[in-house]
Amino acid sequence: MKHILLGKSVEEIQELLLESSAIAKLPSYLAKQITEWIYKKNAISFDEMTNISAANRLLLNEYFSVGITAPSITHVSKDGTQKFLFGDVETVLIPDGDRLTLCVSSQAGCKMNCAFCATGKMGFRRNLSAAEILNQYAFLANEGRKRISEHTITNIVFMGMGEPLDNTYEVIATLHALTSDWGFALSPRRITVSTIGIIPALQQLIEQTECHIAVSLHNPYHEQRLMLMPSEKVYTLENILTLLARYDWAHQRKLSFEYVMLGGLNDSPLHAKILARLIRNLPCHVNLIPYHPHETATFIPSSRKATEAFQNILTEKGINCTIRSSRGQDINAACGLLAVGVS
Ligand code: SAH
Repeated sequence: MKHILLGKSVEEIQELLLESSAIAKLPSYLAKQITEWIYKKNAISFDEMTNISAANRLLLNEYFSVGITAPSITHVSKDGTQKFLFGDVETVLIPDGDRLTLCVSSQAGCKMNCAFCATGKMGFRRNLSAAEILNQYAFLANEGRKRISEHTITNIVFMGMGEPLDNTYEVIATLHALTSDWGFALSPRRITVSTIGIIPALQQLIEQTECHIAVSLHNPYHEQRLMLMPSEKVYTLENILTLLARYDWAHQRKLSFEYVMLGGLNDSPLHAKILARLIRNLPCHVNLIPYHPHETATFIPSSRKATEAFQNILTEKGINCTIRSSRGQDINAACGLLAVGVS
């Protein structure tokens, strides 16, 4: 099998070139040129790397692959949101004014089985490699320059399929390739990783990266959160908040909480008050997400009135709170609707 270079540093590529020197003599200085093409010039194939000789490009093609592949299907929503199918995972591109947000998947399917989420219903298929996660960005950043939008991708959110912290090693490797000087050199302040809060992995993510963190909260009561999110059994909200309280969220790095508004279940004024009390000492932002109905769950969305009342209570208590606008619902690209092969 060909070695995939996407996600690898100059040193790692040098090592691969050296290892393969018995079969193909490729000079190690190519590593620097290759990384510049992949990460700085958004090249998707060796053929584009015109400062590498044709003979060396031929050898590279024979033994290595850049690792960038095109999606098989693209859907376009009437609101401009686009959904792409890369093999068995979906990626969403959301234009919003001069922002262009890329929502990436970290797993095919998901093990977490949150009651309201369509991805959970398709079950778990597999972890994505760092190269596969990076491919979603690399391909669309390249295509974006050419035709998808006049803007380049400004933000990346790990809010597609899967639980990023159930694939921590590959996700952290991805974040390093996205933010390192040798890599895509994106600011970590443009990247948000969303998680249900797998505590040891969350600690690792906080300590080994500088990205923003979003935690799916959804209910301030232990018993009720447990009914919505099986992970609460092991990783309780109380322990998640205790961990988060140890870090600094008051400066550049931001913490947010996602709260899907389920009619009659978690949207009462009392829920809002208890939530406010729980997080009042944490500098953070709360994102209320309208519930997106789908066939595999029986919840109903909260009314606009209940959602606004909930928001007002949090705001009055001094907590920043916004209602996230639903994007791409007509093409099943909205939060919690990504599910390949669920009928
Ligand atoms: N597994 C991670 C990343 C997914 S992010 C996490 O849970 O944080 C997707 C967000 O959409 C999560 O906050 C998730 O709880 C929410 N979501 C899931 N199903 C939804 C639905 N049907 N409607 C609205 N939001 C949903």
